[in-house]
Amino acid sequence: MNEAAAVSRAGRTCLLCGRADRSVTLFTSTRAIMACRACGLVFADRDAPVPLGDYPREYFQGGPYADYVADEPAVRRTASARLQHLETVATGRRLLDVGCATGAFLEVARKRGWHVHGLERSAYAVEIAQQRLGNVVEGGSITDDGRVLPAVDVITLWDTLEHLDRPDEALARVRAALSPGGLVALSTGDYGSLLRRITGRRWRLFADPTHNFFFTEHTLTAVLTRVGLLPIAIWRSGKWVSLSLILHQLRHPLATRVRNQIVRRGWEPSLFVNLWDTMTVYARSAEES
Ligand SMILES: [Zn+2]
Repeated sequence: MNEAAAVSRAGRTCLLCGRADRSVTLFTSTRAIMACRACGLVFADRDAPVPLGDYPREYFQGGPYADYVADEPAVRRTASARLQHLETVATGRRLLDVGCATGAFLEVARKRGWHVHGLERSAYAVEIAQQRLGNVVEGGSITDDGRVLPAVDVITLWDTLEHLDRPDEALARVRAALSPGGLVALSTGDYGSLLRRITGRRWRLFADPTHNFFFTEHTLTAVLTRVGLLPIAIWRSGKWVSLSLILHQLRHPLATRVRNQIVRRGWEPSLFVNLWDTMTVYARSAEES
């Protein structure tokens, strides 16, 4: 095996520029986090084992999330706000949500009159989503061989891109599935953010072991452009987060005690949080511009 192949096997080939010889390890947490010195892409060692990599119940309950389903009122509030905004821009009401988890976003969309489809890799989450929405939710990955995507007007990937093995391939398929005038809306962490710079390796996006990519506005734009998508708006957005989840992610005994009290009382308080470390992007097919 030559040296380039050996580096590639270690998961160090840069997905964005293809260079196998320029990545450096920034630090190691659950996996090595690397940066490509040629193009700036930051990514996790994709050949290392990924704890909770198939997103079992333990991922959604007591892993990165305290109790995803119980905390959904906050997800629904964010969904309403996102849809309200999308409805001012979208040309039609056919929607595909890639990485739809338990389907809360799609449920809110359907109530607002959207014709919805969902795709989700977690068998645990798919079961819940299908109970709610029926067979418009499919299990599996967008990059599966033979995957046929429905023709839609809007494709959303909320906090999904960073989980994928091949975000470039996924976005290429997204672009191919867009109807004329179609819109892609996605959110993902911003590695270039002030909060990431301040918190370093303790940045909250590094805590989820299933996160593979940490984009900046520059590297995200590069991936989108390469697959023929043109960003038309990029902004730093907040979202509604349940107090229960915030306390869970603090991973402190006192916070856990407070959280247990809140859950026991059946309270569902949520806060609108914008830490300016998440990008929301709208993009269209570059051919149409
Ligand atoms: Zn690179």
